[in-house]
Amino acid sequence: MSSANKRFNRQIAIFGLQGQEKIQSTKVVLVGFGGLGTFVLPQLCLLGVRDIAVVEHETFSETNRNRYMGFLHSDFDDDKGTGFDKVMVAERVAKGIDPEVNIKLIKNKLESRDAFDAIKRADIVVGCLDSDGARSILNELSIAYDVTYIDLASEVFVDGTFGGRIAVVKEGNGCLHCMGYGLDQTEVRRYLADETQLENEAKVYGVDKESLAAGSGPSVVDLNGIIASLGVQEFKLHITDPKNSSRYLNYRGHLKSITKVQVDEDNGCYCCSLYNKKLDANVERYLGVKAKPKD
Ligand SMILES: [Zn+2]
Repeated sequence: MSSANKRFNRQIAIFGLQGQEKIQSTKVVLVGFGGLGTFVLPQLCLLGVRDIAVVEHETFSETNRNRYMGFLHSDFDDDKGTGFDKVMVAERVAKGIDPEVNIKLIKNKLESRDAFDAIKRADIVVGCLDSDGARSILNELSIAYDVTYIDLASEVFVDGTFGGRIAVVKEGNGCLHCMGYGLDQTEVRRYLADETQLENEAKVYGVDKESLAAGSGPSVVDLNGIIASLGVQEFKLHITDPKNSSRYLNYRGHLKSITKVQVDEDNGCYCCSLYNKKLDANVERYLGVKAKPKD
């Protein structure tokens, strides 16, 4: 047995050498290296994924310290008030597990040419985002270019309930708009709004415009770990055992419950109708959208 096979022999025992080879030849893009993404990346590397691009434009901040796996306390300098680029930590984590991994670092927004090009060439994109606006763009891009999109979301609500969900968008049959709970259209609209529109809306609500941005809600390490691992499980099943993979899983943490949601075929969704239309879907129009500040 080669040393590569020996490294993986405990999991080859589960999904076979062929399954292992499929995982190793899958091109993956991870969008977002935060609370969820920091749990996903090491698991992908441990499974044996060797071609990964990480899209993340932010730096590590003090409020990230409660939940980011693989980050060190010293990745944020308390005296200077500055943190490491998250993509640099992504590289440290990935290469620490597998020095041979081919990891491309894209320190840029999702709405950038670099990120779009990486996603178009991928087999699977894993979304670990904190905004339904960004999810909406990634949803459309993945459908238009026939890239399987596994989207992860975790949430803690003000009434003390908490949970999340895993959605798998593929083959133009069910997407984040038409499966499960859909997307928060107010959040999508705000994400796509320009500065003037946001300022006007903030005045209406009597708040500052930063508070309209998503991504600063409550978040905790164990919940992210559960959602990320369920997402990696679906990633693995999609590649090695598709008949047992799911399209939409709801996790309700306060009830200790995971439920599988049925996806209707051919439901008349506009976004799903963009399947494999590539440039004709005109997803490139988003390349001018600016990411909103948070944290
Ligand atoms: Zn749809």
